[in-house]
Amino acid sequence: MISRLDQKTTNTFYSHFARELASAGFTGDIELGYADRTVLATDNSIYQVLPEGVFYPRSTEDISKILTLANKPDFQQVVVSPRGGGTGTNGQSLTSGFMVDTSRYMNQVLEINTEERWARVQSGVVKDYLNELAAKEGLFFAPELSTSNRATVGGMVNTDASGQGSVVYGKTRHHVLELTSVLADGTIWNSVPVDDEQLDQLCQRQDRVGLIYNTLKNTHQQHKQRVSEVFPHLNRNLTGYDLANIVNKDNQHDLNAILCGSEGTLAIISEIKVNLLPIPKYSALVLVFYKSFQESLQDAQSLMAAEPDSIETIDSRVLSLARADSVWESVKDFFPEQSADIDGINFVEFTGEDEAEIQQGIDRLKAELEKPVSILRAGHNVVMGTGNVKKIWNMRKQAVGLLGNMKGDARPIPFVEDVAVPPENLADFILEFRALLDRYQLTYGMFGHVDAGVLHVRPAIDMKDPEQEKLVRLISDEVAALAKSYGGVLWGEHGKGVRSEYSPDFFADLYPVLQEIKGVFDPYNQLNPGKIATPAILPEPVQLLKIDEVPTRGQQDREIDRDAFEAFTSSLYCNGNGACFNYNPNSAMCPTWKATYDRTQSPKGRSGLVREWLRLQTAAGADIASESRSIRQEGPLDTVYRGSQKLINLVNKWRGEEDFSHQVYGALDNCMSCKSCAGQCPIQVNVPDLRSRYFELYHGRYPRPVKHHVAGLLEPMLPVLAKFKPAYNLVMGWSAANTIAGKTIGLQDLPAITSSSPINDCCRAGAAIANRTLLDAIPDNERDKTVIIIQDAFTSFFETPLLTDLVELLIRLGYRPLIAPYKPNGKVLHVYGFLGRFEKVARTNGQELKALADGGISLMGIDAAVTLTYRDEYKEVMGEASPEVLLLSEWFAQQSERLRQLNMNLSDDTAEEFVLLGHCTETSNVPAAPAQWQQLFSDLGLKLTYKATGCCGMAGIYGHETRNQEIARKLYDMSWKDVIQNPENSGKLVATGYSCRSQVKRYGDGKIPHPVQAILQVMKQQ
Ligand SMILES: Cc1cc2nc3c(=O)[nH]c(=O)nc-3n(C[C@H](O)[C@H](O)[C@H](O)COP(=O)(O)OP(=O)(O)OC[C@H]3O[C@@H](n4cnc5c(N)ncnc54)[C@H](O)[C@@H]3O)c2cc1C
Ligand code: SF4
Ligand code: SF4
Repeated sequence: MISRLDQKTTNTFYSHFARELASAGFTGDIELGYADRTVLATDNSIYQVLPEGVFYPRSTEDISKILTLANKPDFQQVVVSPRGGGTGTNGQSLTSGFMVDTSRYMNQVLEINTEERWARVQSGVVKDYLNELAAKEGLFFAPELSTSNRATVGGMVNTDASGQGSVVYGKTRHHVLELTSVLADGTIWNSVPVDDEQLDQLCQRQDRVGLIYNTLKNTHQQHKQRVSEVFPHLNRNLTGYDLANIVNKDNQHDLNAILCGSEGTLAIISEIKVNLLPIPKYSALVLVFYKSFQESLQDAQSLMAAEPDSIETIDSRVLSLARADSVWESVKDFFPEQSADIDGINFVEFTGEDEAEIQQGIDRLKAELEKPVSILRAGHNVVMGTGNVKKIWNMRKQAVGLLGNMKGDARPIPFVEDVAVPPENLADFILEFRALLDRYQLTYGMFGHVDAGVLHVRPAIDMKDPEQEKLVRLISDEVAALAKSYGGVLWGEHGKGVRSEYSPDFFADLYPVLQEIKGVFDPYNQLNPGKIATPAILPEPVQLLKIDEVPTRGQQDREIDRDAFEAFTSSLYCNGNGACFNYNPNSAMCPTWKATYDRTQSPKGRSGLVREWLRLQTAAGADIASESRSIRQEGPLDTVYRGSQKLINLVNKWRGEEDFSHQVYGALDNCMSCKSCAGQCPIQVNVPDLRSRYFELYHGRYPRPVKHHVAGLLEPMLPVLAKFKPAYNLVMGWSAANTIAGKTIGLQDLPAITSSSPINDCCRAGAAIANRTLLDAIPDNERDKTVIIIQDAFTSFFETPLLTDLVELLIRLGYRPLIAPYKPNGKVLHVYGFLGRFEKVARTNGQELKALADGGISLMGIDAAVTLTYRDEYKEVMGEASPEVLLLSEWFAQQSERLRQLNMNLSDDTAEEFVLLGHCTETSNVPAAPAQWQQLFSDLGLKLTYKATGCCGMAGIYGHETRNQEIARKLYDMSWKDVIQNPENSGKLVATGYSCRSQVKRYGDGKIPHPVQAILQVMKQQ
C-alpha cells in the first residue's frame, strides 16, 4: 500500500505574514497549500525552489498591500518574487519566499487607443491575447517571443523579451510607453520619460521616488562615459538596469530603461502602456536550404544584404524533431519530403504594405542567391501569404519545446542557450561553441536569430546524474568567457536569473553602480533577491545566487525510485516550457487550465505534483512498482483484506488526517482525460496515462467513489440495458431520476439508449456480421472494397443512427461494410485507473480484433477517442500484437483514389461549404484528421473548411459528472457556443466527436450531424 504523506507546511513567519495580509484587506487569493506551492516551484529552467506561499492579487492596490506590509520592520525579512507566465528559462521567478502571480486575475487589456496606437494592459495579460484584440484594430504589439501564447506582458517587460524580427522591431522596452509599478515600500508610481525640468522637480521629493530619480540623474552624470565603454553595442544587448539608455533619444530621462528587464528585482509592475504598430498587410518567407549548418550561419550575413525583416535558422536536429511532431502536418508542404541531406535552413522573411513590396524583397534575395559564393546551398522555396508564413513561424516557435522531446535520460536543458554576439561573429563563435560541446561529447540542437547574432543551444544532460550535473558549471564558465571574447553577452534574450552570477565580472567597476540602483529601490533586498544585483548597503553583505548552488529539478528527481520513475516516465519529463498554458480558447490544449486558471489543473501542474508525490513515496519507503503489480494481481482474499484497510483509511480521512496524496488526487481528478496534452505538449506529457496509474495506486489505499464502479460497468452493461431500452429511457428521461442519479452516483444527464440491438440495425441497413467464415469466403477481388466497422459503446448504444448511416453511405459508395460484434473496449476502465481489468479486456478484445484483421481487411472505428485506444493504451498492454484500427478519416483517406474515380460530383457550384468542428482528442493526436475529412469531401465534390475550436466540455463521461457541470458549461460557452449560434454557420456545421454532438444537443443549441451523415444527406437529396 502506498504511504500516507505529510506535507511541508509554510513556516510560521511566512504564515503570520499571510494572515496579516488577509486582515489588511487583500482581495486576491492566498495559497499556502503544498500542492499550490509545488506547481510554482519550477519554471522552464533546471531549478526547483519551493515558495512559502503564493499570492494572486486582483489589483494594483492588492500588490501595494503586500509590499506595504513587507516594508514594516517586523517583515523586512520577507522576500517576494513576481511571476507572470512562469516561462523563464533561468529561474527568474523562482523564490523561497512569497510569489506574487499576476496571471490569474490581473490579465485584462484595459484600453486600446486605435488613433494614437497604444494599449494599456494589466501586467498578467498574455501577449497573444493582447494581439488578438489589437488585430481587430489592424494593430499589433511588435516584440516577438516563442512563448507568446502563455508569456505575460509583465514577464516580457521584466525580461525585456524579444525574438524573431528584433532587428526591425527591437525589444520589449522599445515599445513601453508607461509603467505603473509598486515600489518596495508599497508606493504606486507611474513612470514616463521626463524632461530636465520635470526631473528636477522629482528629485526634490523627500520620498523613495525622489531618491530613485536622484540616483538616476547622478548615475547618468557620473558614469555616462564608462557605461558607453562597458555596455555592449548589440541589437541584443543587456536586459535590465540599462544604464546606457537612461537618457533617451529625445533627451528625456527614462526610468523605464532601468525597470525594463529588471526581473522583478526593483518593483512589481501592475500596468503597462505599450506602443502598437500597424500589422503589415503582406508577408512572405523564403526558405533557403543548406547541406551544412555552419554554412547556413555564414550565409546569413550575405542574405542580410537583401534587407529582409528577419532571418531565423534551424538545424537538422530541430527539423527532424518537428517532422515527428503534430505541428508538421501544418507545414509539411513547404519543405522537401526527404531532408536527409539538409543540415540547416534559413527562414528569410519579407513584410510590406503591398504585394509589389514583397516581390521586390524576394527579387533582392534571389539576386543575392544567384551571386557566386563558396557556400553550398541546397535550393530554396518561396512561401507566400500571411497564413502560410504564420504556420511556419509557429513551427519555428515550437523548436525549443521540440528539443525537449529527445528520448532518454539526457534531455536538452537551458543554461547557455541565448548567447548574443555581433552577427558577423556568429559563425565563428558557433564553431568554437560546438567544439566545446563536442569535447564534452554532448548532443544538442541549434536554432535562432541569425540576423541578431543569437543562437539557441540546449545541450542534452541527465541532471539526475550528479556527475553530469557538474557540466552546468564547467560549460557555463567556458561559454561566458567565449561570448566575452567575441564581444558578446551570455544573456542575449532570456534574461539573467540565476546566471546573474556572471554580472560582477562582466560589468567590472560598473557593478557597484547596479548595486546602488538595487539598494535605492529595494534597500532590504526583498524583491526577487539574488538576481541581477544585490544592494551594497545592507548590514551584512549578500551574495548573488550561484548557478550550482540553487536546488535543481534533477536533484529532486534522483531521489525517486528508478522503477517508479520508469513506470511514470511518460509524464515525468515535463520541462516546464508552459505550452500547456496556452490561453487560446480555440486551441485544444488543456481545457481544465483554461477553465480554472489554476496551475494545479494543468499538465505541467499535474506532472509536477506526481513527480513530488513519487519522491515523497520513495522517501516514505513505498515500492510503487510492486504495489501496482500487486493491485493488478489481487485475489478475492487480498481484496477483502485491502478493503478493510481502505475503510480504516477512509475513516481517518474523514477525521481530517492529512495526506498529500489527497491534494495530488484533487488535481488529477479534474483532468478530462482528453489527451490534448499527449498530442500537443512538445514533450508529449501524457496526463491521462499518469492519472490512471495514480488512481490505481491511490485507490489501493482509499476506496473508490460509486461513480467509478458505475462508469467501469457501463461498457459491459450496455447490451443488457439496451434490452430494456423503453424502461431505461423512461427512467433516465424522468427529471427526478436524473437528480437522484446526480446526487447518489455523481452522474447526470445520461443519454437515452437508441437501439436495443445495434448490430441488428446494421444488418437491416445492409451490413453483414464479421466472422471468420464470412471473411474467409470473401473473394480476393472484393477484399479491398470490404471494411470491418468496430463498434464502440457511445455510437452503438447512444447514437445508433450514425452507425447505420455509415453502413448506408459505404454501400452507396460501392463498399461492403461488415460489422464486428460489440465488445467493450475498456477505455472507461483505463480512464478510471482499473488497470488490471483494462489489461484483461484489452488482451481479449485485442486478440479477437487482430484475428478479424488477419485476412487483410481493414478495421475502422467511429469514435476517435475510443479508436485511438487501440494504438496507445492497447499497445502498452499488447505491444506490436495490438490490432490496427483506423479512424474513419484515415480509412477514407486510404480510399481517396478510388473515391475520386467514382466522379461523384455531389454539389453544384452554389452549394454552401460545410464547416468541420473536430474532436479535441482526434485533432490533437492525429493532426492530419481535419485534412483527411476535407479530402473526403473534396473527393466527392463537396466543400469542407475546418474551424479550430477548443474543448466542448464533455470529453466522454467528464461532462456527465455532477461536480463538473460548471466547468463543462464554461468550456462550452468559451469555445463552442458562439460558433454554434452564429447564424452564418446554420446548416453547415459537422462534428466528428460523439461527445461534442451530444453537448450541443444537451445545451439546447440544436443538432449537428457527423460528417458521414452530412454526406449521406446530400446524396439522398440528389
Ligand atoms: C520554450 C521557450 C521559448 C522561449 N522563447 C523566448 C523568446 O523567443 N524570446 C524571449 O525573449 N524569451 C523567450 N523565452 C523566455 C520567456 O518566455 C520570456 O522571458 C518571457 O518574457 C517570460 O514571461 P513570463 O510571463 O513567463 O514571465 P515569468 O517567467 O513569470 O517571469 C519572468 C521575470 O519577470 C518577472 N516578472 C513577471 N511579472 C512581473 C511583474 N508584474 N512585475 C515585475 N516583475 C515581473 C519575474 O519575477 C521574472 O524575473 C522562452 C521560454 C521558453 C520556455
Ligand atoms: S506539460 Fe508539456 S507543455 Fe506543459 S509545461 Fe510540461 S512539457 Fe511543457
Ligand atoms: S488530458 Fe486534457 S484536461 Fe487532462 S491534463 Fe491533458 S489536456 Fe488537460
